[in-house]
Amino acid sequence: MPRILFRNATLACVDGDAGYGLRENAALLVDADRIEWLGSMASVPAFDDAEIVDCEGRLLTPGLIDCHTHLVYAGDRADEFEARLEGAGYAEIAARGGGIMSTVRATRAASEAELFAETLPRVRALLAEGVTTLEIKSGYGLDRDNEIKLLRVAEGIERELGVRVQKTFLGAHALPPEFSGRADDYIELVCQEMLPAAVAERLVDAVDVFIESIAFDLEQGRRVLDRARELGLPIKAHAEQLSHLGGAAMAAARGALSVDHLEHLAADEAAALAESGSVAVLLPGAFYVLRETRLPPLTALRQHAVPIAIATDANPGSSPLHSLLLTMNLACTLFALTPAEALRGVTINAARALGLGDLLGSLEVGKRADIVLWDVNQPAMLSYRLGINPCRRVLQGGRWRDEV
Ligand SMILES: [Zn+2]
Repeated sequence: MPRILFRNATLACVDGDAGYGLRENAALLVDADRIEWLGSMASVPAFDDAEIVDCEGRLLTPGLIDCHTHLVYAGDRADEFEARLEGAGYAEIAARGGGIMSTVRATRAASEAELFAETLPRVRALLAEGVTTLEIKSGYGLDRDNEIKLLRVAEGIERELGVRVQKTFLGAHALPPEFSGRADDYIELVCQEMLPAAVAERLVDAVDVFIESIAFDLEQGRRVLDRARELGLPIKAHAEQLSHLGGAAMAAARGALSVDHLEHLAADEAAALAESGSVAVLLPGAFYVLRETRLPPLTALRQHAVPIAIATDANPGSSPLHSLLLTMNLACTLFALTPAEALRGVTINAARALGLGDLLGSLEVGKRADIVLWDVNQPAMLSYRLGINPCRRVLQGGRWRDEV
């Protein structure tokens, strides 16, 4: 693999504790799949054998990371979108067997090949905007074989497209209809059979659970996360989205990589996240689609220096969103993140939410050469505009994506 030298670049390194880590008139050298050197144009050594890319002042950022998605599913929920606009609520739709259950039925009926074909264009939309790592959760199979089928599709996406995919087991996403009224029995199945089977197939990088009035209660969530820890797996939780059940603090106390949603997180719980090092993953797409009004406690998260990530939450119901750039704008506009926080939220803090912060997510010597060259010259442009994709070229693990 030849070395690549980016010259005359504007670097948003997102190193350090805050801000862009901006370096203007800078250069960066990639050697194989790692960042080998970076510094000012005035101090560039002669890297004689390197391929030269003159950036002409353009912006370089780390590859973008979408750290919370539900991209593998069959069908769509356009009818539900319509019903909501005719007045039905999210909880009401779920209570009458719509919502997640309609996707579960379609997903169970689909073959692995069909699921793969349906998922590809969703992933390609993300990649077109400079995404080099994404997380994909299971959670629409809700039995052993179907959950494994979803995780295999996620693995296939990584193989086919060369993007890094972190696979998260979310068997406790919703109660399948055959367990109606027997949520504890289903949790037992998740813990004793479904999760161990997926782990045995080497398909699980982390374990997630949906703790909410329309999903699982705090005790059921705790059982799943404790079982995951017994198996040596990192944990996450969907928590405090529609109500406050205490899932975020419970997961944080168990060392969760991230707790996600958090609109109903109490301000005094931010300290617990700071203490555990859990990343607060905010999902403005679901907030927007559901027309929620309660904002996550951003002031408290900032006060306690909790790392904040943002993600698409791409799913067929509450967030049919396949643009991380639009997600950045939504986070700024709806949650009042600064553009620098939004960029950190899709780079270094998203990497931390996946347990990959030492390897990815910033432009620093030794980190993986996942790098995006943008047709803009200042980082705020990425959050500021809607509907324009300035992604010019993507380096994934030191290789140009368009040459792979
Ligand atoms: Zn989600």
